[in-house]
Amino acid sequence: MSGATTDDGGVLRFRRSIFQARLRAEVRPKKRTVVATVQIGAFSSADPAAPPDDVFEVGRPADSEEHREREILGREAASAGGVDLAGAERIVTAGRGVGGPDEVAVAADLAAALGAELGASRPVVDNGWLPRERQVGSSGHIVAPNLYVALGVSGSIQHLMGMSGSRIIVAVNKDPEAPIFSVAHYGIVGDLHDVAPALTRLLEARRRLV
Ligand SMILES: Cc1cc2nc3c(=O)[nH]c(=O)nc-3n(C[C@H](O)[C@H](O)[C@H](O)COP(=O)(O)OP(=O)(O)OC[C@H]3O[C@@H](n4cnc5c(N)ncnc54)[C@H](O)[C@@H]3O)c2cc1C
Repeated sequence: MSGATTDDGGVLRFRRSIFQARLRAEVRPKKRTVVATVQIGAFSSADPAAPPDDVFEVGRPADSEEHREREILGREAASAGGVDLAGAERIVTAGRGVGGPDEVAVAADLAAALGAELGASRPVVDNGWLPRERQVGSSGHIVAPNLYVALGVSGSIQHLMGMSGSRIIVAVNKDPEAPIFSVAHYGIVGDLHDVAPALTRLLEARRRLV
C-alpha cells in the first residue's frame, strides 16, 4: 500500500502499485475490517499525524503454538558493515549519468562528506558499477531519508517509487526537463562532475572550520 484516504461516506480507499510500479490502482475493500501492509520506507516518519483512537493491536496467529508452521532454530544479527539504505538518514544516489564505474567515486565522495549512504539507480547496478544491495526503486529499496541527493538520475517512475517519500530531495541533472525535477525540492541544472565535487569541497571546508 502506498496511500490511503476515505471517501465522503467514510469508506476507506487504498492506493497500491501494480505491474511493477508502472500503474497505481485504487482499491476499495468490500468489508470494513481490512489488513493492510506498508512497504518499509514508503512513508517519511516526519510529522506523523496523531493516530486515530480506534487503532488496536491484534495478536499474530503465527506467534501462537497452534498456528506455528516453522520452527525457529536461532537468530543471528546481520553482519556489521552491511548497507542499510532503508534506515539511512541521508542518501546520495549515483545514476547512469555519472558515466562509468570509476566516476561513481564522485557520488561516493559527496556521500562521505555528507555522512550519507551511497545509493544507485538500476542501470548503475545492472552495469556492475555498484552492488545490487544499493539499488533504490521499485525493484530495489524503498527509502524515505531526510535528505536524498540524486546525481545523474533521470527520474523514471520505478526510481521515483523508491525515493519520492524522502523529506528533502536534491537533484543534479544536465537536462532541465528530467522528470526527477518534478519531485525535487532543490534542483541544480548542470554537469554533476562540476557540481558534486564543488559541494564536496564546500562541505569539507566547512568541516575543517568547526
Ligand atoms: C520492471 C522494472 C523495474 C525497475 N526497477 C528499477 C529500480 O528499482 N530502480 C531504478 O532506478 N530503475 C528501475 N528500473 C529502470 C528504470 O525504468 C530506468 O531505466 C532507470 O531508473 C534509469 O536510471 P537512471 O536515471 O540512472 O538512467 P537514465 O534514465 O539513463 O538517466 C541518466 C540521467 O543522467 C543525466 N546526465 C547524464 N550525464 C550527466 C552529467 N554529466 N551531469 C548531470 N546529469 C547527467 C541525463 O540527463 C539523464 O537524465 C526498472 C525498470 C523496470 C522495467
